[in-house]
Amino acid sequence: MAYIFDTHAHYDDRAFDRDREEVLSSLSAAGIGHVTNIACDLQSIRTTLDLAHRYPWMYAAVGVHPEYAEMLTEESFGIVRDALQDEKTAAIGEIGLDYYWKNNPEHPTQRYWFARQLDLAYETGFPVVIHSRDAARDTADILKAHHGPDIGGVIHCFGYSKEMAREFLNMGFYIGIGGVVTYKNARKLKEVAEYAPLDRILLETDCPYMAPEPKRAARNDSSRLPFVVQMIAEIRGISAEEVIRVTEDNAFRMYRIRREE
Ligand SMILES: [Zn+2]
Repeated sequence: MAYIFDTHAHYDDRAFDRDREEVLSSLSAAGIGHVTNIACDLQSIRTTLDLAHRYPWMYAAVGVHPEYAEMLTEESFGIVRDALQDEKTAAIGEIGLDYYWKNNPEHPTQRYWFARQLDLAYETGFPVVIHSRDAARDTADILKAHHGPDIGGVIHCFGYSKEMAREFLNMGFYIGIGGVVTYKNARKLKEVAEYAPLDRILLETDCPYMAPEPKRAARNDSSRLPFVVQMIAEIRGISAEEVIRVTEDNAFRMYRIRREE
């Protein structure tokens, strides 16, 4: 029996403060088998690990998002390094580059801490969860210069062209696909969802953000992933069951998690 693996969620976000327990305890009945909660700053490394310890089916990615790159110093970088010792940690993330928001840290600062976190992944053997927005070229170039193909991981919430997808796939990366693929105007992503080999696609919510249609404006959670599954199945002309089964295998492989029998 296959279950949906939500490879990218933020259940420690305050959008879930009201009913976190309730939402999380309802997921298994909705067909969700596993979730990786993703940290984005130094505080959420702690809250992510706390959650992952409370739920046996939840894993953690620990790292600092480009939006918060200025939090990192030689000293505070130790918090990321220490979090890798935790038994629930499965990846370093989310890390990367975000040139979309003008208020984000200066690009050289973003690039510096992206590279440092990649070097840490190379040194410790963890895969990486990459956030990349309006920065395709720099992301690919920094990955190439910092052992990307040896590290491996996922380009989450993939928003680039088929040609860029090919470049990341050639480096061994997986493509994270979520609610956006259900949007009418998501032509580029639908092309990528058709083009990428099925064994390199991962399902993700990025919840509370990126809710799929219908109810695009609502708070997202993993129970809405069947809408994403359905769209990928339609695009590829295969069954929803096959999408769930293959992407679940992919998630365990990418996160290097040994499956319990
Ligand atoms: Zn995220």
